Amino acid sequence: MIYTIKSIDGWHIRIPLATPYHLSKVMGTLTHSDAVLIRITLEDGTGGWGECDPGGLNFTGDTGESVFADVRVRSRTMIGCNVEDWVRQGHGRNVRGTAGAVFDVACHDTLGRATGIPVWQLLGEQRRDRIDVLWPTSSGTAEDDLAIINQRYAQGFRTYMLKMGDRPALSDLERLKRVLGAVQSDVRIMVDANQGWSRDEAISFAEGAAALPLILIEQPVAADDHEGLHHVRQSGCTVSVDESVQKPEDAERIIAADAADIFSVKISKNGGLANSAFIANVVHQAGKRILMNSMIELGLTQAASLHLGCTLPNLVDCGHAYMSTLRMSDDVTDFSDWVENGIAILPDRPGLGVKVDESKVNHYQVEHFHVS
Ligand SMILES: [Mg+2]
Repeated sequence: MIYTIKSIDGWHIRIPLATPYHLSKVMGTLTHSDAVLIRITLEDGTGGWGECDPGGLNFTGDTGESVFADVRVRSRTMIGCNVEDWVRQGHGRNVRGTAGAVFDVACHDTLGRATGIPVWQLLGEQRRDRIDVLWPTSSGTAEDDLAIINQRYAQGFRTYMLKMGDRPALSDLERLKRVLGAVQSDVRIMVDANQGWSRDEAISFAEGAAALPLILIEQPVAADDHEGLHHVRQSGCTVSVDESVQKPEDAERIIAADAADIFSVKISKNGGLANSAFIANVVHQAGKRILMNSMIELGLTQAASLHLGCTLPNLVDCGHAYMSTLRMSDDVTDFSDWVENGIAILPDRPGLGVKVDESKVNHYQVEHFHVS
């Protein structure tokens, strides 16, 4: 059997969030998903799906419009390619960025569906079939956080990510202390400043938080400030990088600079499954750990992330970001059904294992292309 690509359909789709998501002063407020989907069709009529999720100009440097245009052009060069060669020979390692991710995810799903193999099996050894899920809060007050935490605690969520970096770091430190003082004893907290603090602010926050039971501080300073990240680590807090680690080369540079303890992996940001798996391995070899994180993304990317997360030996012991579709007003897949009582459970199905509702893809479409 030769798994040759006959045609590719692509969609730019946009779905509103259930509630707007306020991040830091650098990242602003998000109101909807902006996803690019492709469907690969093979010569024998079988096929599969991929998704990528532009992070915006301040994060990944792209938008739904720019990624869709890039994917449309690149799709022409994929016609006639063999998805088995792509996956088995690791061609996904040669792509970069959001637009590259969609082809790598789609090739994995297509090969998995065509051969009856789940994607995790194309990536490595399965170490678990379920992962605890975290829940994020918007940048706001302790009262806002506690309202969300109390609501989601009842639904089984135990790990929370407080978004910070919109206000002075020391007021966010007071907010963190109030939250920690009010939650149940089995609640665990991480914070994400989304580059919103100066180096001095970040260090004063970290010094104040060093004795607190905090899982990690994500991206306290600007993405390229590796020296600043290193200084924040000196406070004794655990530092995670997100915006800093986009390409595999970034992970290697951060490790060389001793600038982080934990690396946020996002399938779309990191350029697909092959690059994300490579980054996770580089991080593991350095004795450091992975947080499976997400953009505002739909079920195809979330499923790809869960398949990879279930193979990794070095996940941080806490909830991970498999809540994205639960925060949307709708999704084009059934991924939300995989999350029960705050735990994401991997089904035993070929490919990514998600069901895609094409009528919803068409309903939410901004633009579409077909190439063959
Ligand atoms: Mg982050």
